[in-house]
Amino acid sequence: MPKYREYHQRSLADRDGFWREKAALIDWQTPFSSVLDYSRPPFARWFVGGRTNLCHNAVDRHLAARASQAALVYLSTETGDERRFTYGDLHAEVNRFAAILKDLGVGHGDRVLVYMPMIPEAVFAMLACARIGAIHSVVFGGFAAASLATRIDDAKPKVMVTADAGMRGGKPVPYKHLVDEACRLAQNPPAHVLIVDRGLDPGMTRVAGRDLDYAQLRASHMDATVPCEWLESSEPSYILYTSGTTGKPKGVQRDTGGYAVALAASMRDIFCVGPGETMFTTSDIGWVVGHSYIIYAPLLVGATTIMYEGLPIRPDPAIWWKIVADHGVKTMFSSPTAIRVLKKQDPAYMKQHDLGSLKYLFLAGEPLDEPTARWVSDALGGVAIVDNYWQTESGWPILSSLPGVEETPRKFGSPSFPTAGYDVRLLHDGTGAELGANEKGVLTIVPPLPPGCMTTVWGDDERFVKTYFGTFADKPVYSTFDWATRDADGYYFVLGRTDDVINVAGHRLGTREIEEAVQAHSGIAEVAVVGVHDALKGQVPVAFAVVKDPARVATPEGVARMRKEVMDTVDRELGAIARPGAVHFVTLLPKTRSGKLLRRSIQALAEGRDPGDLTTIEDPGALEQIRAALASTAK
Ligand code: ATP
Ligand code: MG
Repeated sequence: MPKYREYHQRSLADRDGFWREKAALIDWQTPFSSVLDYSRPPFARWFVGGRTNLCHNAVDRHLAARASQAALVYLSTETGDERRFTYGDLHAEVNRFAAILKDLGVGHGDRVLVYMPMIPEAVFAMLACARIGAIHSVVFGGFAAASLATRIDDAKPKVMVTADAGMRGGKPVPYKHLVDEACRLAQNPPAHVLIVDRGLDPGMTRVAGRDLDYAQLRASHMDATVPCEWLESSEPSYILYTSGTTGKPKGVQRDTGGYAVALAASMRDIFCVGPGETMFTTSDIGWVVGHSYIIYAPLLVGATTIMYEGLPIRPDPAIWWKIVADHGVKTMFSSPTAIRVLKKQDPAYMKQHDLGSLKYLFLAGEPLDEPTARWVSDALGGVAIVDNYWQTESGWPILSSLPGVEETPRKFGSPSFPTAGYDVRLLHDGTGAELGANEKGVLTIVPPLPPGCMTTVWGDDERFVKTYFGTFADKPVYSTFDWATRDADGYYFVLGRTDDVINVAGHRLGTREIEEAVQAHSGIAEVAVVGVHDALKGQVPVAFAVVKDPARVATPEGVARMRKEVMDTVDRELGAIARPGAVHFVTLLPKTRSGKLLRRSIQALAEGRDPGDLTTIEDPGALEQIRAALASTAK
């Protein structure tokens, strides 16, 4: 096995040879004529002329060897539902779904909007789209009607697939009325809405002529076979909107062949999951992690994927570990936010089940602070904790350790190194000059972007070029809009988003650095730090912290003591320059539905501005707490 350095260098120096080899991991109906066409930068076309199909590679091609092996194991602690689909079962269900879509007039290049809870039918819908060459656009279930309507108008779907309701914390969350409302708000509503009726919302109403029942249509297509539509490698497979943490979501367009190859390669080199092995990704199908690592990647390699509907702490905080033990999970993929939730529970829950099968826990989506990384590493014993950094745009990890290539040591707080094909550079945000070891800069990628990355913004090539390649005049590099350093050993440390930099009296501090310092106090569970305008210093950091034991801040004396302790901790960890001008205690931080901190909105409130677009917020009550905390100190 080549060692990491050699592997990464080859992926850049011998791009054609490297990716030609990786392309052999999937089936091609027509071989490609060239590995890369980069004649129209920054638009990259991978595996030009090659024809393939994601559904064929994820399902059909495994039938010969593993028709009776589990492909998809569905577990819901919300409804108690447990269903196991072999590759043979999955093939039958996807064919039925594809036949339904075809009957509704959906064909090659048409869009289908999927607004679904975590149920297997969502996977059938997505794979069915891939099968017939339609483009799926999955919108996270539970987004409000207005968010849904803007995404409908952007993608202009022919058909929308939804369910009567999702379930959360044991309670049904009706979806259908949101779909009706969104269709009323949208300029281009779909002709048909296909409903998977879970029987959770007895009050659901139907629109005659438009709304159709999935179970009924499925019953009339039990023996359907629908051939795969062979797509040219660069044809779009799906559209997926970014989380909207920093503003208006962008419709990321993904190709077909490049994505399949990149995911298959990532399963070998990064995630170490092969045929017959089991992966459990705790994300939602509405996010990129769900697209890539609940659905496509595990199925592309003939593995078993676990799809879980439910909370990590219900019926009790050991549920994930029970799933790992029951199903022999080898690789798990989750987020730092979820681990922080578990960190607030009794650590005994982490020890109730035999985790002998579990080798890796990958975490992505947000900075993995060192205390949380250490805590989960200690709690899980011998499991490797792998921080990996990427974006909706990239589709698969940009930075990660690659245990399938070489077991390099991991450093807590660092997602290690660039993965295959990513020519990562840190640039000075003002001059664009390339920076050396231990200097903070913008994390950029020299194009062409590797296979699997976004090929454009849906319907807006100009926005793609301007947004992502327009940061540095004279240097058309891809900006991640994240801020990072690299140490002398080549390890990267992501410090937060470029708009999350605080400038205190001329010193530039990443919000993440200060958050890490605050979290070094063992009594703090979670914290958000934002820069607030200050006439004298330019900006001052302000912290909003959640304490593990609320009793410690129940009295004014307790608050004062805790505040001082937090400030002392920051002084000690980072220096007095980074000390927050104020520390507020709350019980909840405002986050997006994908669990990311909404610093933009916190900062706006702290500066007395409007919090802006809140369509992606998880719990508006969290912003109320921020408002109340600010108001109480303003007095
Ligand atoms: P939008 O682009 O609409 O503002 P978003 O950036 O939150 O939304 P995603 O694509 O889901 O949408 O998130 C990618 C971002 O998440 C990265 O750019 C980075 O800021 C953060 N991120 C992901 N993984 C890590 C990680 N391992 N360490 C630090 N930050 C991470
Ligand atoms: Mg982003």
